[in-house]
Amino acid sequence: MSQAINKDERSLRCSIKEFLDLQSKAPPVTACCAQCGSLCVHLPTLFWLDGDEDSFCIPLPFCLRCNPQVFSGVAETNSMVVQESKSLYA
Ligand SMILES: [Zn+2]
Repeated sequence: MSQAINKDERSLRCSIKEFLDLQSKAPPVTACCAQCGSLCVHLPTLFWLDGDEDSFCIPLPFCLRCNPQVFSGVAETNSMVVQESKSLYA
């Protein structure tokens, strides 16, 4: 019985990895926000399965108008990198 469960878990894991692999290779599709209709931008996002070495970078669409906090989080991260660079070369 447990072997059947392990086989099912492996199959599910393989199916999820196959899905993530296909999504990481697919070109970003132009999308509009379902709430406000604005053109979405794509944010590269890293996915992986717990206990697995493979990771997959998938561009996820999001709306800057409806989710401005996502963009401010990215901007803060970028500004921190710039500050570190300045301190290294100052
Ligand atoms: Zn929106």
